[in-house]
Amino acid sequence: MNSIPNILSIAGSDPSGGAGIQADLKSIAACGGYGMSVITALTAQNTHGVRAVHVPPAAFLVEQLAAVAADVRIDAIKIGMLGSAPNIDAVAAFLREPRPGPRPAVVLDPVMIATSGDRLLSADADAALRRLLPLADVITPNIPELAVLCDAHPAVDWATAIDQARSVAAAHGVLVLAKGGHLEGGDCPDALVDADGVLLQLTGSRIATGNTHGTGCSLSSALATLHARSGDWAEALRSAKAWLTGSISAADELAVGTGHGPVNH
Ligand code: PLP
Repeated sequence: MNSIPNILSIAGSDPSGGAGIQADLKSIAACGGYGMSVITALTAQNTHGVRAVHVPPAAFLVEQLAAVAADVRIDAIKIGMLGSAPNIDAVAAFLREPRPGPRPAVVLDPVMIATSGDRLLSADADAALRRLLPLADVITPNIPELAVLCDAHPAVDWATAIDQARSVAAAHGVLVLAKGGHLEGGDCPDALVDADGVLLQLTGSRIATGNTHGTGCSLSSALATLHARSGDWAEALRSAKAWLTGSISAADELAVGTGHGPVNH
């Protein structure tokens, strides 16, 4: 393999540049990968929220995936906003297709609802999303998404979040990255969890900024890229978290919008 891995983001567009494929491409580049983006959905949004969502036909998603895979070696895949059940099924079929060479690792950010409260996945697609989970190596739900995946109330403490992550890992045979960013308080831990419990836990402190739009997209893209470079989830997570912490710390250097602004990739 060349030293620069090819990372495919399958995700939605944020025209204000803070989340979605725009965040993915910036994160992949910052972490030393070559970024590609297959677009699942278009949003009309800015730092105040999502005004509209347009999900093109799944057949066009299939065309994009086929065109890229026919020509470019894919070393890792990051999946973000999928938008609709037909899109989810198209991505599942793509992941199941046999292709030559090593199977790319898959990081799935199960995007359902934006921090602004806007739905990014149609309400009827939750069941389809669950069918996709076993095809990923690592899933990166935030606290509200983790609760949806295990039919529970959102965790209000870290021990409950870990417990929910363990049960989702056991139910779907994936590693779960539990993320503490949506909890109250000064700590922002992250942990890689499997069916038996915590494999790696990283501590972190909350950074005083309102500009954290797109952190989930950025972390999952960084994790996919750094895993493609090192081949090791623990090492990739350590580097991805350190990089994201720096990007959040530098967020206030940007002047992007008057709402919930982006991190500084
Ligand atoms: N827009 C798109 C296209 C996304 O993929 C995401 C999250 O994954 C968001 C918006 C939401 O970003 P945030 O919740 O960080 O504001």
